[in-house]
Amino acid sequence: MSCIFCKIVNGEIPCSKVYEDDKVLAFNDINPVAPYHILVIPKAHYESIIDIPEKDMEIVAHIHNIINKIASDKGFDKAGFRIINNCGEDGGQEVKHIHYHILAGKKLPLYEA
Ligand code: IMP
Repeated sequence: MSCIFCKIVNGEIPCSKVYEDDKVLAFNDINPVAPYHILVIPKAHYESIIDIPEKDMEIVAHIHNIINKIASDKGFDKAGFRIINNCGEDGGQEVKHIHYHILAGKKLPLYEA
C-alpha cells in the first residue's frame, strides 16, 4: 500500500494529530499556509469525492461535523475559516486520498479560479 495518508492512518508515518475517532483522522498539514492548516481525512481510502459511493456519503457529513468541532475547540469558529477539497488533476489534488483542508487564523486572501 503506497498511499501516504493510509500510512498516517496506520501509524507507519507520524503525524501531529488534532482529532481522531473510528472513522476520521485530523492532523496538522506538514507545510502550513495559514496559522491553522489542518487536514481532515476518512480512515477508509477513497481517492476523491468522485470515488465515494452514494451508500458511503454519510462520511462526508461526519467530516463536516468534525470540522465544526475542531473550529470550536481551536476557537476560530467565530472569526471564520476556509474548507478546501482539491479534486483531481485540474483541482490541484496531490495526495490521492480524499482530504479536506481547514485554513484559519488570519484573514485569508480571495483565491483565483
Ligand atoms: P492536496 O494538494 O490538496 O492534495 O494537498 C495535500 C496536502 O498534504 C499538502 O498541503 C501537503 O502539505 C500535505 N501533506 C503531504 N504529506 C503530508 C504529511 O506527511 N503530513 C502532513 N501533511 C502532508
